[in-house]
Amino acid sequence: MAALSSAKGALLPWARSAAHGGLLARVLVGGAMPPPPPPPTAGGGRCSLLPRRWQSSLPQLDHVDRSDEESGGGEIDWDSLGFGLTPTDYMYVMRCSPEDGGGFPRGELRRYGNIELSPSSGVLNYAQGLFEGMKAYRRPEQAGGYSLFRPEENARRMQHGADRMCMPAPSVEQFVDAVKQTVLANRRWVPPQGKGALYLRPLLMGSGPILGLAPAPEYTFLIYAAPVGNYFKEGLAPINLVVDDEFHRAMPGGTGGVKTIANYAPVLRAQMDAKSKGFTDVLYLDSVHKRYLEEVSSCNVFVVKGGVVATPATRGTILPGITRKSVVELAMDRGYKVEERLVSIDDLIDADEVFCTGTAVVVAPVSTVTYRGKRHEFRTGPDTLAQELYTTLTSIQMGLAEDTKGWTVAVED
Ligand SMILES: *Cc1c(COP(=O)(O)O)cnc(C)c1O
Repeated sequence: MAALSSAKGALLPWARSAAHGGLLARVLVGGAMPPPPPPPTAGGGRCSLLPRRWQSSLPQLDHVDRSDEESGGGEIDWDSLGFGLTPTDYMYVMRCSPEDGGGFPRGELRRYGNIELSPSSGVLNYAQGLFEGMKAYRRPEQAGGYSLFRPEENARRMQHGADRMCMPAPSVEQFVDAVKQTVLANRRWVPPQGKGALYLRPLLMGSGPILGLAPAPEYTFLIYAAPVGNYFKEGLAPINLVVDDEFHRAMPGGTGGVKTIANYAPVLRAQMDAKSKGFTDVLYLDSVHKRYLEEVSSCNVFVVKGGVVATPATRGTILPGITRKSVVELAMDRGYKVEERLVSIDDLIDADEVFCTGTAVVVAPVSTVTYRGKRHEFRTGPDTLAQELYTTLTSIQMGLAEDTKGWTVAVED
């Protein structure tokens, strides 16, 4: 966290103009002087001792209101859940200011709602931000409670990404505890068994104001949740990808290996073009040789040929997926030889089977890949490795199969 200490050094001059920026924005929007901010409620400890000017850049949230606790959830049509945003009741918020010495003091649950950010926050101006994606499944009736899948891996990935983006990160314990609290607070939004999952979206952002390019002086960790079904509109049906050899999502030395928000808006152009032509998503190639597979916009890719499963090695341009890592292990358990290496477009064309992995998509079979105008078809359906992996993985995640690997973490009701 050397980067953080340098951020801390640069901080105080900005604190002054920060107060200014926050106030100005409120006046412009509201047309009148705002009432003084409510007394800080978050965290207690040293956070509440911050000078009032700091409050301007912090999320200002409604107080917890349980009045509609009993409505919602029940009105949802669980059978038609896609990957849309269904707002839930609570979010978890925790922030880290210079006074906190690089660590996050205690956070808290808040009513889900808009947050207030300084117009000059690091995240808005310079994309100093990271996200994570996880799912909580409702466990079978007899077990009760909810199940998380390898949440410490998400926590560690966020720490790694935070280091790359010059941000402080919550500890693994803080992260996992915050996720559990978010699940329980939104428990009525966890879909019934087999209908989907409660998707959790942890965010880490430079919420403090900064004008010159430098790490922000204050950080916010936030988790919100939404019930989800299938990610692709195809549902569990096979998807159709198009290889893009013009746009790239990452480059050597860049940030492709971390889940920074900066990696996603740049792929929208390619994704929209692909969708307008009827493809599900884009498969990216490496930006140097334009020959080796990288991944899809939000999932990793695997190719299967005979008894060999290959997936691109993660060398900084590919997001090291937790689903990817788990699938590698499950395929090896099934006796497949698994290779993490350079996988060329020719390897793909020659493959029997292709599939994608990610928390949102789980294991998505690929039926066609179009490259330079030519459509290549792959095996899908029953008796494919993708199908087998999907069943095995979701059974573990949902608590339907014994978790011999210790991958799941129970959230007790
Ligand atoms: C999140 C993500 C993945 C999948 O990672 P999981 O940990 O399996 O969810 C793959 N690629 C990209 C670009 C991602 O953002």
